[in-house]
Amino acid sequence: MSKYMELVEQVASTVVRENAIKVDTEGSFPEASMAALAEAGLLGLLSAKDVGGVGEGLRAGVDVVARLAQECGSTAMITCMHYCAVAVIERYGSESVRRDIAAGNHLSTLAFSESGSRSHFWAPVSNATKDGHGYRLNARKSWVTSANYADSYVWSSQPVEAEGPSTIWLVSRTSEGIQIPEPFNGLGLRGNDSTPITAESVFVPAAAILGSDGAGFDVMMGIVLPYFCLMNTACSLGLMQAATQRTAVHASGTRYEHMESALSDLPTIRAYIARMQCKTDMVKTLLYDAVAAIETGRDDAQLRVLESKACAGEVATEVLDLGMRVCGGAAFRKDVGVERYFRDARASGVMAPTTDVLYDFIGKAVTGMPLF
Ligand SMILES: Cc1cc2nc3c(=O)[nH]c(=O)nc-3n(C[C@H](O)[C@H](O)[C@H](O)COP(=O)(O)OP(=O)(O)OC[C@H]3O[C@@H](n4cnc5c(N)ncnc54)[C@H](O)[C@@H]3O)c2cc1C
Repeated sequence: MSKYMELVEQVASTVVRENAIKVDTEGSFPEASMAALAEAGLLGLLSAKDVGGVGEGLRAGVDVVARLAQECGSTAMITCMHYCAVAVIERYGSESVRRDIAAGNHLSTLAFSESGSRSHFWAPVSNATKDGHGYRLNARKSWVTSANYADSYVWSSQPVEAEGPSTIWLVSRTSEGIQIPEPFNGLGLRGNDSTPITAESVFVPAAAILGSDGAGFDVMMGIVLPYFCLMNTACSLGLMQAATQRTAVHASGTRYEHMESALSDLPTIRAYIARMQCKTDMVKTLLYDAVAAIETGRDDAQLRVLESKACAGEVATEVLDLGMRVCGGAAFRKDVGVERYFRDARASGVMAPTTDVLYDFIGKAVTGMPLF
């Protein structure tokens, strides 16, 4: 086992596991889990070694998010969004922020989705205007994971003056004019604090631009999209793996005393569990093939990235439907612990690019049409 997997195993099997039910029940941010990940050096997993990070890449991010999701979907999603932001900051951010991230002192996230353009994150309607030695940002961001806890947001807006659909910024949470009006109260991933943020004339220095004015689309598609799609898939994978395991344990340990048999003695039940296992392994295979396609520069890498998230979003809901069915009334209550995964698994399909948008992209790609 790699060093980083030893570290994540240690954190996941202790503090993340111990806090997962409380985080879900209370809808509270997993502060203890994120502190433990920071302490273990895992917030700096993707940070370069020359700024004090672990120096790992996409494959490690996928591995870590999948393992965390087996215990707590919220912790996994917060980590996923942090790693997506770190991938951009590593490329364009200042050395001091990169060092803070590597040292575990800085949590970041993505603030792309907006009330105006909704899931079409590639087309922000918020604006940025020049003001002396810096810029002013105005926005209505609709969903920002870790909104109240991140130290910074990797933020999109329309360009200041350049051509192009967007510009990317690094915005401090404590900037004057940032407002986070209400706490997150979601169906699933209840601890991920994915809350709307408004920005009213928020001043950022010139150095806050990540990349150049107007070049946001390239940052979104070239850097963020592969990380987000594959780590989001990893989150779905971890949820499916844990749910399949819990379902199997419940089915083999639950008895019909009057028939002296277990739930798993029913062929129908075994077939449902087999389908859960097959679908989970299908997603795992596709996910790691996509990682390999990127690592080796294969021609189908972009298609694999899109397919992975589309399949994972769809299949995770199917697998968790099966888990709920197999575990019966015991799952409808919280006895088996499958319904938390059932709720958490529903988020992936509506996280942008949503499953339906991905099907549109994939359909365009295979019929030879441009994606945009
Ligand atoms: C738990 C959670 C955490 C999140 N965290 C973040 C975050 O940290 N940062 C961030 O930027 N965003 C985040 N998001 C937002 C997410 O990425 C989406 O932008 C958001 O969920 C879209 O919801 P909406 O109601 O605006 O969708 P809408 O855009 O209103 O879509 C509604 C439906 O229409 C469908 N649809 C839209 N366009 C098309 C199309 N062209 N073809 C076919 N169907 C289409 C969609 O698939 C969807 O089913 C998060 C969302 C969730 C649920």
